[in-house]
This record gives sequence, C-alpha cells and structure tokens, in this order.
Amino acid sequence: MLCITLQFRGNCRLSPELAAAFLEAYPRLGRHACKGLHGGHFADNIVGTSYAHLFEHLLIELAVCAHPGQVFAGNTKCLDPVRQLYQVRLRCVVPGESGCEPAV
Ligand SMILES: [Zn+2]
Repeated sequence: MLCITLQFRGNCRLSPELAAAFLEAYPRLGRHACKGLHGGHFADNIVGTSYAHLFEHLLIELAVCAHPGQVFAGNTKCLDPVRQLYQVRLRCVVPGESGCEPAV
C-alpha cells in the first residue's frame, strides 16, 4: 500500500475548466469508479473536488498503465480542513505477477 500525505495552499478545488482539461488529457479518468457525492464515477465528482482526490485518481491511472491487468483502489481523506492536509492511499486490489502488494 502506498500512503502519501499532501498539504495544499490557496484554493485546492478543481474548476470546471481544469476538470475538463484533465478528462481530455486522461480519457479513462472519468470512468474510474468513485464513491463521491454526485455519482459512481470520477467524472460525476471531478468538478469541485480537491486536488488530493484528483491526485488519487491520477495515481490509479499511472498504476494501471504501469501494471496492465491489475486492479487498484484508492481513497482520499481530509486530515485537517483548515490546513488543507490530506492523506491519499493506493493499494493493489488483485495481486499479481508485477509485485503489487496484496490488498490488506
Ligand atoms: Zn474518487
């Protein structure tokens, strides 16, 4: 499992324009499963989400590219909303030959 703590300064929410740019640059990103407030896919939740949540989905995208056939899951947790401190975790759900750690 990968666990990263991130801290942001200033506005750390995605604008509609930035969300559209990311969805265009990474077409599969919007189809990621996502337990957001507005629907079951990341495309439903990307506008207004935190940069930390975007970072989680970009990590998943990179992990899938690096390990085709593997399934990854992540989550983003706000540790301190005043300091904009977030924890992003990524894990391999289906362990395989590529050395992914098994899901715990
Ligand atoms: Zn998500």
